[in-house]
Amino acid sequence: MEAKLWDSVKTLEALKPQFVSVTYGAGGSTREKTHAIVKKIRQETALEPAAHLTCVNATRAEIDEIAKAYWDSKIHHIVALRGDPPDMKGKYVPYPNGYQYAGDLVKGLKKIADFEISVAAYPETHPSATSAEDDLRHLKEKIDAGATRAITQFFFNADDYFRFLEKTQKLGIKIPVVPGILPISNFAQAVRFADMCGAKIPANFKNLFEGLDEKPEERNKVSIEIATDICRKLTDNGVNQLHFYTLNRSDLVQAICKNLNIQ
Ligand SMILES: Cc1cc2nc3c(=O)[nH]c(=O)nc-3n(C[C@H](O)[C@H](O)[C@H](O)COP(=O)(O)OP(=O)(O)OC[C@H]3O[C@@H](n4cnc5c(N)ncnc54)[C@H](O)[C@@H]3O)c2cc1C
Repeated sequence: MEAKLWDSVKTLEALKPQFVSVTYGAGGSTREKTHAIVKKIRQETALEPAAHLTCVNATRAEIDEIAKAYWDSKIHHIVALRGDPPDMKGKYVPYPNGYQYAGDLVKGLKKIADFEISVAAYPETHPSATSAEDDLRHLKEKIDAGATRAITQFFFNADDYFRFLEKTQKLGIKIPVVPGILPISNFAQAVRFADMCGAKIPANFKNLFEGLDEKPEERNKVSIEIATDICRKLTDNGVNQLHFYTLNRSDLVQAICKNLNIQ
């Protein structure tokens, strides 16, 4: 897995992204690994790394320590998140003496140092939000606390993104709301992810991936075509930044970028 990760990093490096971010395992389970990988990216590549950090399973003091260590290692960009319950089931309960929501984490990070902070946004509304309006209001709070970029949850219908973007603009949100693109490398896994985060999967996708479980080349082709199509709809309508969820499949991202004439 580690070798595959570094292959991915090298492939991404050639695409010259603005930054690469490294996720933080559910429940804070990859704390040390995330830290080590982000540091290695800083030290051994020309890429600009960003570290995801969640509020789960840690006190404020513990999270503040992690953040200070990032700052000292010259990791100055944090993707600040609330995170999910460690078992992904049940209601989210803040950790005792922990940061409650991502907005609180953004405030805490800004007290430690002048981090560049990205936060999450949900074109199809966060699954546990009390309403789409409340969810947008909470996004605005994260921005008012100091976030300068929002990265969206993945979606498969560009119109959902554009409707959401319009709402953010009406609310006075001026920072980039960068669309998150998930190339589907495994359909069953994408359905599971979408179920968890409330993203809709278009009905025709099931047919497109039908019978391709054992045919990786054909599956990749479908995946690349779908993601290229979404990206084209976005870039044809004024979007000039894309964020890819690579899941170590930088080969798919590379092919999509080639289709889009990026590089
Ligand atoms: C780009 C991106 C990257 C991600 N990376 C990771 C990762 O590395 N590791 C990981 O474990 N998870 C990751 N996630 C998943 C994320 O942790 C979950 O979606 C989580 O459920 C919400 O995180 P958040 O930062 O959006 O939370 P928040 O912004 O805190 O929102 C969570 C919910 O609480 C509500 N809310 C927010 N503030 C308040 C308030 N003050 N009062 C009442 N309600 C409030 C919101 O409306 C929303 O329903 C990522 C998601 C995205 C989109």
